Amino acid sequence: MFVLLIFGHFFASLFLHSFFLHRYGTHHQFTMTKKWERTFFFLTWLFQGSSFLNPKSYARMHLEHHAHSDTTDDPHSPLNFSISKYGLDFPYAATRMMYMTKKLFAQIRKETHEIASMYKNRVFPEWETFESFADSKLSVIGMGTLMVLIFVFFASGWEWILLPFILLNGAVQGAIVNWCGHMWGYRNYDLPDNSKNTWILSSVMWGELFQNNHHKYPDSPNFGGPKWYEFDPLYPVLLFFRKVHIINFKT
Ligand SMILES: [Zn+2]
Ligand SMILES: [Zn+2]
Repeated sequence: MFVLLIFGHFFASLFLHSFFLHRYGTHHQFTMTKKWERTFFFLTWLFQGSSFLNPKSYARMHLEHHAHSDTTDDPHSPLNFSISKYGLDFPYAATRMMYMTKKLFAQIRKETHEIASMYKNRVFPEWETFESFADSKLSVIGMGTLMVLIFVFFASGWEWILLPFILLNGAVQGAIVNWCGHMWGYRNYDLPDNSKNTWILSSVMWGELFQNNHHKYPDSPNFGGPKWYEFDPLYPVLLFFRKVHIINFKT
């Protein structure tokens, strides 16, 4: 039962990562009212907890990823970390990629990196008072301690191996998408980058691993592709959210 709750937590946080940080906050694929924006902002903090990713910093770094995908200017391309053609050195190279991405993210958040001053004309989700708390050490240590206590009370034996993945859930999800989606899979579109569709993982990752489709059409809220088996499970949720007036598509 506890394991199911932990997996549920991971996929809820991944949903918010894809829905709020990526599709809404970065690509502006749909709109929502300020009230709903703050609701999802809060939920993203609640579920990402100790690994909360500041939406504005996330958006700027991700736009740089799209602008320079898989070149040396890409903030987190696996091609800049792996020396194996097929990415077989992932235990070491993906960990290094995660570490360097985390370092860069902190610099963007502190506005000590040039990416922080880019995309000034774009509007990102902002909530100054809450952000300063959500990014603080108090929040990171507090939410991390809360999760450790949940494990102390409910985990038995092997379940403890899931703890690092939960404490670092935002970063782990980013690393899976960046590594697999730019290293392993097939391509529908011959783009100048190395984006791939990692079909086997794409449905459980809320459609995020249809990276080749997404890089071809970054403004489309549907990451599924032309093939019948390319199903983006987050898209029907968006259709439902539109039906109940939580979001609106731009076109
Ligand atoms: Zn990508
Ligand atoms: Zn994107």
